[in-house]
Amino acid sequence: MSAKIIDGRKIAQEIANDLIAEVSSLSTRGTVPKLVIIGINPDKRAQVYIRMKQRRAEEVGITTEFIDIADKTPVEQQKFVSNLGEDTTVHGIILQLPLMGWYDVQDLLDCIPANKDVDGLTSINQDLLETGNPKFIPATPLGVIEILKQSHISINDKTVCVIGRSNLVGKPLAVLFKQAGAKVLVGHRQVENLTNLTRQADIVVAAAGSPGLITSEMIQNHAVVIDVGINEIDGKLQGDVDFESVKNKASIISPVPGGVGPMTVVMLLSNVVKAAKSST
Ligand code: NAD
Repeated sequence: MSAKIIDGRKIAQEIANDLIAEVSSLSTRGTVPKLVIIGINPDKRAQVYIRMKQRRAEEVGITTEFIDIADKTPVEQQKFVSNLGEDTTVHGIILQLPLMGWYDVQDLLDCIPANKDVDGLTSINQDLLETGNPKFIPATPLGVIEILKQSHISINDKTVCVIGRSNLVGKPLAVLFKQAGAKVLVGHRQVENLTNLTRQADIVVAAAGSPGLITSEMIQNHAVVIDVGINEIDGKLQGDVDFESVKNKASIISPVPGGVGPMTVVMLLSNVVKAAKSST
């Protein structure tokens, strides 16, 4: 039997529709949510992501601005981001990664005030998430949890395997699953036998950036498989899951494209609306 395929675009559109209503109500009360995206000489791929975020934001009524700070020194860049944090017309600030010239991006991220850090990546917000009291949850992990919720998949008491442990995706996801009552197994490059972990899991989330890494032999019958990976192969997007084989063994699977990707953008916008609301 073939797995149920999650329609991330449909779930994202439903959330976007709710956001349109919230933004409209905020705007009539005099607050138009605004997101500022900061970049340093973004490459072609980053430019695509920036345009996608701006287009989607403007569809729901959020004002956006992209600012390239490549002409400033690192000290000026930090000052610029801190000053922007004090601008009351700006509700959310994100840095479009990767950032040219920064060895430790965290230093620049930490110039964003926690109440405008809608990517949830400042040290303060990472700590708040760890302690179970998050201000903003990073958009991709939030999107994964929302997909499971909308698909009526419970997490409590489940064994979940998260492949990948980056600050952006894997790490916060593992924290969220643990806090939701799951037993969490984390796979990464240094784990010798990933299959040992994935075969124990009721839910497998792949966020490695390694095309076709998860094959059908690696999962239990009827597992739920969420594919976060985005890999460009010969101009086509491919996930971390070998979709064609895994879909015949899993009970539910998210595709690439059309799964987690559309959720990420909309969850970022939902964080911007949350920031704007709490500023009033
Ligand atoms: P990253 O490179 O920062 O981290 C990758 C993690 O996966 C690391 O912890 C690494 O140890 C682990 N890993 C890599 N290859 C592995 C392998 N072969 N076996 C086991 N573990 C392995 O990447 P990231 O920023 O966390 O992104 C991960 C993937 O998710 C990428 O494909 C990225 O494009 C994608 N992504 C998608 C969205 C979305 O909206 N769908 C958002 C962010 C990232």
